[in-house]
Amino acid sequence: MNDLTCVIIGGGHVGLHSLKAIKDETRGMVNGRRIRFVLIDKQPGHVRKMLLFRPAVGQEEITIPWTHYSFLEGVEHVRGKVTSVDSGGKQIRFEDAHGIHALMPYDLLVVAVGSVVRQPASDRGGIALTDPQAAADIRERWRANLRKAAGETNREERKRLTSIAVAGAGISGVETSAELALEMRKEASSLGLDPSDITVYLLSGQNQLFLEGPEKVGIKLDRVLSECGVTVLYNRKVMQAEAGAVKLSNGDRLPVGLCIWTIGLIPNPALRSMGLPLTSDGQVLVDECYRVQGATGVYSIGDCARIVDPENGKADLMRAGEGVLQADRLGKIVIADLEGRPAPVHKSAGSIMEFFCIGLGENRGFVWGSKWGLHMIITGKLGWKIRQLAWDKGSMLR
Ligand SMILES: Cc1cc2nc3c(=O)[nH]c(=O)nc-3n(C[C@H](O)[C@H](O)[C@H](O)COP(=O)(O)OP(=O)(O)OC[C@H]3O[C@@H](n4cnc5c(N)ncnc54)[C@H](O)[C@@H]3O)c2cc1C
Repeated sequence: MNDLTCVIIGGGHVGLHSLKAIKDETRGMVNGRRIRFVLIDKQPGHVRKMLLFRPAVGQEEITIPWTHYSFLEGVEHVRGKVTSVDSGGKQIRFEDAHGIHALMPYDLLVVAVGSVVRQPASDRGGIALTDPQAAADIRERWRANLRKAAGETNREERKRLTSIAVAGAGISGVETSAELALEMRKEASSLGLDPSDITVYLLSGQNQLFLEGPEKVGIKLDRVLSECGVTVLYNRKVMQAEAGAVKLSNGDRLPVGLCIWTIGLIPNPALRSMGLPLTSDGQVLVDECYRVQGATGVYSIGDCARIVDPENGKADLMRAGEGVLQADRLGKIVIADLEGRPAPVHKSAGSIMEFFCIGLGENRGFVWGSKWGLHMIITGKLGWKIRQLAWDKGSMLR
């Protein structure tokens, strides 16, 4: 009997977990047919997207080659950018690494093409933390500014060169600003600058941090950030980053050497032309078992899909934490569908337990969990260990 081909588009946090879950659940065979697995991604390896800010502060490599993963043994990797899904003909179209267009047939398809970082209009200045290259550019810029500051005699100009604005105070803005403040202080000391001159402003358009939890958690997070050297400015958005300063929504002008945008994620825009049914926001429409509407054998999860808990109507957030739970369930759904049994149904992560962890630099973590109205906050070294574990689990490194 012919092999059954299972293609996973996207080897991000969710695509990797999906592949492993389907492999584990099926053990590579179903109804007497061997399953051939193909992973197609436009990148040469798994990008640890949650650590995107790391190359902006240090020189950490955040792309893990596919060969690192032992569970990918026997899986075919194709480097290519998928352009469309022909669900009637059960094939995908893609452009390979040499720009050649080709077709790939599938029996089962998992669409996990994720999201991209939202960018401001190009005339608004600054640098958006979109990918490892943008992160490396950010690092070059602030380091060059500190070197200039070390030779600057004008106090105000020195202050400007040692200041940074991070626009957008979601979790990635918080983590970026905390790690930047620590790293910039270290670099300042080595250049003979006063580390306490380093100022990292974190601009929030809201009146509190961490809207995912209660106000007191946001207040505590503000306190920990301030100990790291980050000043949070509330109810102020960056309107424009111009030479030497940022213009704020309240009319203020803040002199800084660099503005970094961390304004959230949007579903992968490539989905718009893939031929799959989408919500108005551009996420793939799926049922409560992640099956793409009107496309037999096609599933979609992670940041690129709109996943709703049928019990409470709550949509999952674009978070690796949520996506990994979806992937584990997807393995069970796929085998149930193939064997003609009832499949498990999506359940939101929040209905099990609310859980967020934030890294604030070496040995500083911030973890918040909530269940049955009881809240738990863990900070310091233990919080950092939990944060590291979550990063590693997200990228299947533990
Ligand atoms: C700075 C930052 C910090 C974050 N922190 C957290 C956090 O603390 N906790 C948390 O839960 N979440 C966090 N997130 C969100 C988390 O990164 C995403 O939810 C997660 O990456 C989603 O995984 P995914 O696999 O669905 O998508 P992605 O990680 O976006 O992966 C998509 C994959 O598809 C590939 N791809 C895209 N288009 C194509 C195509 N056309 N053809 C072939 N391949 C394609 C990409 O190369 C990529 O490998 C953070 C995000 C950022 C940017």
